[in-house]
Amino acid sequence: CQLDPDQKEFQQAVYTFLLSMDKIIDELPEVTYHKILERMVEPERAVIFRVPWIDDEGRVQINRGFRIQQSSAIGPYKGGLRLHPSVNLSIMKFLAFEQVFKNALTGLPMGGGKGGSDFNPKGKSDAEVMRFCQSFMTELYRHIGPNTDVPAGDIGVGGREIGFLFGQYKRLTNRFEGVLTGKGQTYGGSLIRPEATGYGLVYLSDYILKGEGKTLEGKECLVSGSGNVAQFTVEKLNSLGAKVVTLSDSNGMIYDPSGITPEKLAYVKQLKNVKRGRIHEYAEKYNVEYIARDTSKPNPIWDIKADYAFPCATQNEITVADAKNLVNNGIQLIGEGANMPCQAEAEKIFLENGVLLAPAKAANAGGVAVSGLEMCQNSMRLKWTSEEVDQKLQQIMKGIYDSISSAADKYSEHNNFVDGANIASFLKVSEAMIAQGYV
Ligand code: NDP
Repeated sequence: CQLDPDQKEFQQAVYTFLLSMDKIIDELPEVTYHKILERMVEPERAVIFRVPWIDDEGRVQINRGFRIQQSSAIGPYKGGLRLHPSVNLSIMKFLAFEQVFKNALTGLPMGGGKGGSDFNPKGKSDAEVMRFCQSFMTELYRHIGPNTDVPAGDIGVGGREIGFLFGQYKRLTNRFEGVLTGKGQTYGGSLIRPEATGYGLVYLSDYILKGEGKTLEGKECLVSGSGNVAQFTVEKLNSLGAKVVTLSDSNGMIYDPSGITPEKLAYVKQLKNVKRGRIHEYAEKYNVEYIARDTSKPNPIWDIKADYAFPCATQNEITVADAKNLVNNGIQLIGEGANMPCQAEAEKIFLENGVLLAPAKAANAGGVAVSGLEMCQNSMRLKWTSEEVDQKLQQIMKGIYDSISSAADKYSEHNNFVDGANIASFLKVSEAMIAQGYV
């Protein structure tokens, strides 16, 4: 496979995927013959564009925009938009690559893509975010459409940003259609979409635990991040009787041994989503410990004794040193809410030490699954109830559990869900690629 040497995150995503492929490739001569892997690592299309916008002082600002259309083998490109200063081509490509296989696992007809910009929404006014989103969509609109490519949210892109993006798309095209998911409830959004990634993560983790005769009830959990995925992971863990004792942001973490109760979680939602504040404010309000992040040291959040850990912030947030701390403290399950939250060697440490690992491709697929359901509802011009969507989400996560565990049993070791997820999704995408010829 041809990989650019400077694209570290993309290389890492492909490398860990190829480790799983090693287990099946000799049995699949048609995959080698049709150069499926070589084709999979090359995006079908990658668009990079200039995003000029005017700040509140009247100065011109320039950011770089991306949309990677990785694979349309099984459906229109589908995947989120990320707004974060760290965004670059390598991060976009790793996320798009992961998305292809994640979407395949949902069982819904969605290809894979990802996009975003190095724009930093932190500290920007609503008007600045709107002007940025409008400029971003002024280029993006020509590359997307309800049957072509359907973006959604990711880090830095929530309901506010999706609203601004949708408004501009509609103005440019004069079409009201399901071109984005994660829309507001008044203009085509699906109920349970905000909750879906976190809820889905907990549903899948629960299926894995039950398979081992373990439960969430009464267990102590670590959650990192404090954004969309973290918040709804805490909400579902609480409702299933677990206790969550941590949250974090890029500046630091809070440790609340008495648990982040539903009341405290309501405060976090208000703090992060409305006030756009920082997690240290939680420590001040509830008089608990706050530890500032020192990136030269292992992350203290992964050195707290607990039963299960749910990294829900960003890629590579669990290093080798963090993995060793978690294992030494007796962690039993890692549920990956973020995309690729563990370094490759850290994942290896978990697998070698018998820690159950719910890999991101499967574990955080609930978000895109409900995005797929939002596309269905938009096409049919109807709206399902929360209960209906939640039930479909649970069915989809159960389907994912069944397919990754049976692929693990058949092609790898029992409970190696990393191999299970990679292999089950690969088989589906590669079959569609072979059927469609050399495209
Ligand atoms: P949000 O923007 O809502 O929250 C992100 C959280 O992670 C914030 O607490 C943020 O802290 C923290 N964070 C982000 N970047 C860094 C960093 N470089 N170092 C430390 N902390 C960081 O994003 P989401 O909750 O939507 O996304 C979180 C993860 O889940 C991402 O990996 C995303 O790709 C993945 N995901 C999200 C889905 C969704 O539906 N939203 C679907 C599937 C996966 P701070 O405020 O300081 O930046």
